[in-house]
Amino acid sequence: MLRGTLLITRSATALICGSRARALSTTVGTEPAGEGGQLYDVIISGGGMVGTAMACSLGMDPNLEGRKILLLEAGNKKVMDKVSETYSTRVSSISRGSASLLSGIGAWDHIVNMRYKAYQRMQVWDACSDALITFDKENLEEMAYVVENDIVVAALTKQLDSLAGQVEVQYRTKVVKYNWPRSYQAADSIPWVQVMLANGQMLQTRLLIGADGPNSMVRHEAGIPTVKWNYDQSAVVAVLRLSEPTENNVAWQRFLPTGPIAMLPLSDMESSLVWSTSHQHAEELLELDEESFVDAINSAFWSNENHSELVETAGSLFRTALSFLMPTGTSVRQLPPSVASIGPKSRVMFPLGMGHASEYIRHRVALIGDAAHRVHPLAGQGANLGFGDVACLTKVLSQAAFNGKDLGAMQHLLEYETERQRHNLPMMAAIDLMKRLYSTNAAPVVLLRTLGLQATNAVPPLKDQIVAFASK
Ligand SMILES: Cc1cc2nc3c(=O)[nH]c(=O)nc-3n(C[C@H](O)[C@H](O)[C@H](O)COP(=O)(O)OP(=O)(O)OC[C@H]3O[C@@H](n4cnc5c(N)ncnc54)[C@H](O)[C@@H]3O)c2cc1C
Repeated sequence: MLRGTLLITRSATALICGSRARALSTTVGTEPAGEGGQLYDVIISGGGMVGTAMACSLGMDPNLEGRKILLLEAGNKKVMDKVSETYSTRVSSISRGSASLLSGIGAWDHIVNMRYKAYQRMQVWDACSDALITFDKENLEEMAYVVENDIVVAALTKQLDSLAGQVEVQYRTKVVKYNWPRSYQAADSIPWVQVMLANGQMLQTRLLIGADGPNSMVRHEAGIPTVKWNYDQSAVVAVLRLSEPTENNVAWQRFLPTGPIAMLPLSDMESSLVWSTSHQHAEELLELDEESFVDAINSAFWSNENHSELVETAGSLFRTALSFLMPTGTSVRQLPPSVASIGPKSRVMFPLGMGHASEYIRHRVALIGDAAHRVHPLAGQGANLGFGDVACLTKVLSQAAFNGKDLGAMQHLLEYETERQRHNLPMMAAIDLMKRLYSTNAAPVVLLRTLGLQATNAVPPLKDQIVAFASK
């Protein structure tokens, strides 16, 4: 009901701005640096994986040709002339949908020329019971890809270099302040978003895209209400060296009562660890000598110390019943590879949290990526949700440009917000529920989730739906 009220208010605002927008669309990209600074059609604040993809995507769109687009990034330019022999600790599981976006904007070929690993299957299982679920695609097609974050950004940066005539980029450029226009015409108000840089320079834009990460200054300064909390967990990440070469085409995740531990394939001999656990345990894991750390990982994947006899008996009866009812729905349990050592200085820890901006847009502002939503890494979805935002916002802005509309008007930004919230919110709710459901070893909850996981595993069409939703 509240949301409905908000929609009406927003549509009304968009209508008020509409006539003004049409007048503005004729002067696109022609203004000299005025009193308020150089005017751009779009400024993207933040050049992480998502902001850089946004810049490429807009720069490649034929309907946006000739528009003035600027990407601002506080950090250094990430170039990679030669891929380092050692793997980076920060990697992402990239869905097929995201790979298709990256391919469409010309970055995927650069990734393929650098380094990536596809996987065909994902096995998730419970440390408190024998319940497991296996996801795979028909005919063992590629399910997703593991790519180092630095490689994703370097590939996008390379692509941006080839779009230099279309997209301007300023690295080592931090935004320190934004001034917002009013959503209605007032004689004393600035019509554009003003962007003040740390070097004192002032810029203006018809549309500001906030891609400045989970602590987004754009979101904060625009006063956009955000639901957020810190989880009682940190993630320990590391590069793992396996005991022996394997095909290594499965992503593994085991839910321990302290949090999920996951191993993503990097090569036939290496995998990437994401171990979410209590802050204190994470700190202890960082302090362990290498041998004890490796023992702790192997034990986390293999030990049955959290099994309960009651849950195991009930689970096994239920599994037997399911195998009669749904003979095609049972999965063969595969065993994860064992770990022999870790990459040099590869252990790092990140506190985990969840956050969601209740609005992704304001007049002349749109949020994308972690600036709009932050999730627990247990489903490997954070960057993928961000790439989905990029695809959707590009589609909406391209259409607006084609129709000669003002890119910063609420009318079409609202379309972006509605479409993305419809996708992101159910995904975020499911991830948060999983985190909570698996953060206990209380017998009734373990029993419930054991039966639920087995039942889901026994219904292939349901699993296909889950994979399709997560691959978007
Ligand atoms: C342990 C872990 C594992 C994960 N695994 C996966 C996975 O497998 N799959 C997946 O899809 N996701 C995963 N994620 C999530 C993913 O890493 C994030 O969702 C993604 O990095 C967000 O990208 P972003 O570009 O939105 O934000 P960020 O990466 O935070 O980038 C923001 C950028 O904005 C810049 N910036 C900030 N403020 C300013 C300013 N004032 N002026 C100029 N520039 C500014 C910063 O320098 C930065 O470059 C994981 C996360 C964690 C913690």
